[in-house]
Amino acid sequence: MEHKEVNSWLVFKRLLGYVKEFKLGLVAAIIAMIGYAVVDTAFIYSIKPLMDKGLTGQSPEILTFMPIFVILIIAARGVVAFVSSYCMSWVGTHVVMKLQRELFSHLIALPISFFDKTNTGDLLSKITYDANQVTSASTKALIKIFRDGATIIALVGLMFIQSWQLSLVFFLVAPIVGIAISVVSKRFRKISKNLQDAMGSVTTASEQMLKGHKEVLMFGGQKVENEKFNQVSNSVRSQNMKMASAQAISTPVVQTLASFALAFILFLATKPSIINDLTPGTFIVIISSMMALMKPLKVITEVVGDIQRGIAASVSLFKVLDTTSALDSGTKVIKRAKGDIELKNIVFTYPTTEKPALNNISFKVKAGETFALVGRSGSGKSTIANLLTRFYDIDSGVITIDGVNIQEYTLASLRDQVAIVSQSVHLFNDTIANNIAYASDGKFTREDIIKVSETANAMEFIKQFPNGLDTVIGENGALLSGGQRQRLAIARALLRDAPILILDEATSALDSESERHIQAALDILQKDRTSIVIAHRLSTIEHADQILVIDDGSVVERGTHAELIEKKAIYHSLSKIQASGEL
Ligand code: ATP
Ligand code: MG
Repeated sequence: MEHKEVNSWLVFKRLLGYVKEFKLGLVAAIIAMIGYAVVDTAFIYSIKPLMDKGLTGQSPEILTFMPIFVILIIAARGVVAFVSSYCMSWVGTHVVMKLQRELFSHLIALPISFFDKTNTGDLLSKITYDANQVTSASTKALIKIFRDGATIIALVGLMFIQSWQLSLVFFLVAPIVGIAISVVSKRFRKISKNLQDAMGSVTTASEQMLKGHKEVLMFGGQKVENEKFNQVSNSVRSQNMKMASAQAISTPVVQTLASFALAFILFLATKPSIINDLTPGTFIVIISSMMALMKPLKVITEVVGDIQRGIAASVSLFKVLDTTSALDSGTKVIKRAKGDIELKNIVFTYPTTEKPALNNISFKVKAGETFALVGRSGSGKSTIANLLTRFYDIDSGVITIDGVNIQEYTLASLRDQVAIVSQSVHLFNDTIANNIAYASDGKFTREDIIKVSETANAMEFIKQFPNGLDTVIGENGALLSGGQRQRLAIARALLRDAPILILDEATSALDSESERHIQAALDILQKDRTSIVIAHRLSTIEHADQILVIDDGSVVERGTHAELIEKKAIYHSLSKIQASGEL
């Protein structure tokens, strides 16, 4: 219990850090809110002279002044209300933006292993829902604390000045109200957390359906997906309902408690000892103050719910922000590596699994050589490619490029040395030209892009689009065929012109005609750089300087094509099976 309080306090302090640079707006808003309370109280107080002096005919000039006073005071109330809303929103929208930007840039830097473990839907809901939740809840809480809190203080003060005996009753009720609030608050905190989780599952379920829409239709998964969504949407609804009912119950309970005070005062007021001291104006002011206290009292009980909501959302955001980014502790920067690669006794286990995906892998590729990796599906070939760019960090062993441990390079510098054409190409919803030159910041000319497109055999299909290179290809390249996507990926890698090239099944989606064309281009390309080629079709790697056969994460054979055929072992039988298949 104690521990939790400390936690909330820490979260709150951290949240304050986000508001710091907007504190001027916050201070202005708070002053305006306090002004609001003062104006409201002044309005109630004005009843007293109206009743006791104006209406009794003692000073009739008050009656003439009253209409002007009403207009002035309502106008003043409008001004402070506007200033407080405006300043609060200004601070709030800035804080949301700051949180969202920070989350976004933090997510970009997180290691791949984080995304292996986390639902995209959950992350989307954190950026869109939670970040808003933090500020909308804290904004509401601040308004309630300062505007309604100040109103309560001002009204109670006014009551005391008028008659402290009657006002004391108010304090009899205050502790009871306090206990009610603390009971309610625990419930709010729990519901908020559940609500947030439920929101995450709605986005996850929707996203899964939207992304896998074709599969859903193909396999007749409409029913399953519908049921899944019905379930998660119902859990959001029921959490919202719980929140609403908790709020709905807390309000009448507090108000009923307060009505006891009111009733008690009405009762006391009939006592001669008290009533003799009271003017009608004082009495009306006290009763009006009590009535006016109802709303802020009700509202202030919701503060706890708001704060809990804000804290729950902040905790969920801070958890992501506290996930350590990929370790980028290297300091070495290289412009262009020569391309010597060495892996020494690499053992690697994916963070989400128990069994190592790679077991004591060692090999050496000299600059300019072509190195081939073959092996059954799931044997660990793509995993090796993932490790070279430090998408994951290894358990033990050393990977060096040009004799330097890759952990000593800055991540940007290391990744600059490597161009990958991977099995799963992601294309952005942008033009073909921008996809090929992705993130190169105008480093390349139009001619460069055309040249690599031609080399990658992509220009022929690009030309068929009316807008050519400027065609927008839809989300993840929806307008393109598998082979066309692959050719764009090859063009992209060609353009980067990195000293190390990794081709992971780069030509698997191409017909043999296109493959021959591209192979010729790739052969030229591989001449002056180190390449690691992963291919199922052994015919494409016959000319590799070295071939490594891996199985179940371990090296089982190595040598050149001729040597391995000579050996008449695994590679030999693989190639025999393929040859008979192709006949
Ligand atoms: P293919 O020829 O089918 O592309 P591959 O040799 O490239 O196969 P890898 O992708 O390297 O195989 O996978 C090696 C092993 O690691 C597999 O058993 C796979 O299940 C596992 N694996 C791959 N990616 C991940 C991941 N992100 N998280 C956990 N395990 C993974
Ligand atoms: Mg693979």
